[in-house]
Amino acid sequence: MTDLSTDILISGGGVAGLTAAAAFGSAGFSVSCVDPAPPVTDETADGADLRTTAFLQPSLKVLKDAGLWDRLAPHATELQVMRIVDAGGKTPAPRVSRAFKASDVSDLPFGWNLPNWLLRREMVARLKELPNVTFHPGTGTASVLTRDVEARVTLTDGTRVRAKLLIAADGRNSPVREAVGIGAKTIRYGQKALAFAVTHPEPHNNVSTEIHRSGGPFTLVPLPDRDGRPCSAIVWMERGPEVLRLAALPEAEFNAEMTARSGALFGPLRLETRRTVWPIISQIAHRMYAERTALIAEAAHVVPPIGAQGLNMSLADIRVLLELSRAAPADIGNDGMLELYHRRRHPEVSARVAGIDILNRTSMRGERIARDLRAAGIAGLYGLPPVRKALMRAGMGVRLSA
Ligand SMILES: Cc1cc2nc3c(=O)[nH]c(=O)nc-3n(C[C@H](O)[C@H](O)[C@H](O)COP(=O)(O)OP(=O)(O)OC[C@H]3O[C@@H](n4cnc5c(N)ncnc54)[C@H](O)[C@@H]3O)c2cc1C
Repeated sequence: MTDLSTDILISGGGVAGLTAAAAFGSAGFSVSCVDPAPPVTDETADGADLRTTAFLQPSLKVLKDAGLWDRLAPHATELQVMRIVDAGGKTPAPRVSRAFKASDVSDLPFGWNLPNWLLRREMVARLKELPNVTFHPGTGTASVLTRDVEARVTLTDGTRVRAKLLIAADGRNSPVREAVGIGAKTIRYGQKALAFAVTHPEPHNNVSTEIHRSGGPFTLVPLPDRDGRPCSAIVWMERGPEVLRLAALPEAEFNAEMTARSGALFGPLRLETRRTVWPIISQIAHRMYAERTALIAEAAHVVPPIGAQGLNMSLADIRVLLELSRAAPADIGNDGMLELYHRRRHPEVSARVAGIDILNRTSMRGERIARDLRAAGIAGLYGLPPVRKALMRAGMGVRLSA
């Protein structure tokens, strides 16, 4: 690359950075997006991200406006029912179960589930359609210097970029966040998650199921059938050493253990992909902006994967940043605009990070009394129709979103 000037430089081409590039590009801004790690766009390739993302209702508009939804919709699985199960008794058998139907609160499904590797494939293809967007896989941000009127960024290949707005989408250890001197509060749980796909004999009927016992939730999220068999994505959270033990088990033993942990709700589960391991933390940046710089996605906030909030919060960051940029394009990246962005997002993000932290701690508890209280909570609280509807709306991001 030769030296360049752009409206927006996005540091990070993960799912959030690629979405931001498509969103700002579709709105007519000139955009450059850089990432030292080229995206892996094939499920079987080394390094493929085998997590899936359940996009909740408010994210749909962001994906549509970014010109992404038409590409993603044919691959998406609708989530019509959310089921919460407590299996905290002596055996892993389900003992309390509550199901919430999207149709009770909305004409639309709760959300739409898509594999992350496929998101990257379709997002990269969308960027190629946009003449005002350039994506530079293999090149990262090396250093950042900000001035009142622009951010000056040097890339790892020596290119110097001048941008009105620098968007940090470079993950939980964000080099840009560090370069602009924004601290973050981190909570460690000693917990990890396994993410993989399984097939099972019983159909999922578009029901997403979260099963609580100890160590964290075991969640099955519907995917399209695979070789004629019903298929689901699983996120299985446990204490770190237990996850490493499970990840190393021979396949037949692993299948038996996860079937038991699932309460056999869908019959015997069969592993269909590699098992990938993800560290679990909560994290929130002290501020969501610095001079000419906005933090989005995991650069700004990280939550345990409960209630499908992480990337959905990131899409809300993008929506607000884009709204402010479109309202006053001449002010893009100036202090007034970025202060507004911070004020609209930080309280909402803080509330969700705190709420998910409590849910995660509750799910991790292994003592008998704590488990029984949790079961009673699921049975009682979620059984009251007004409370249940309020929780459903909040979980879907309908009420709380900025
Ligand atoms: C098991 C699991 C399940 C989840 N399920 C859901 C779900 O159902 N719904 C949901 O909403 N969320 C979910 N999440 C959260 C979601 O996956 C994350 O929020 C999301 O993947 C993070 O995306 P990101 O783009 O912010 O970060 P990353 O994917 O970490 O991307 C950051 C990018 O920055 C790049 N980078 C690093 N250094 C530099 C540099 N110097 N210059 C430029 N780029 C750099 C990296 O190479 C990387 O590609 C889940 C998370 C986990 C762990």
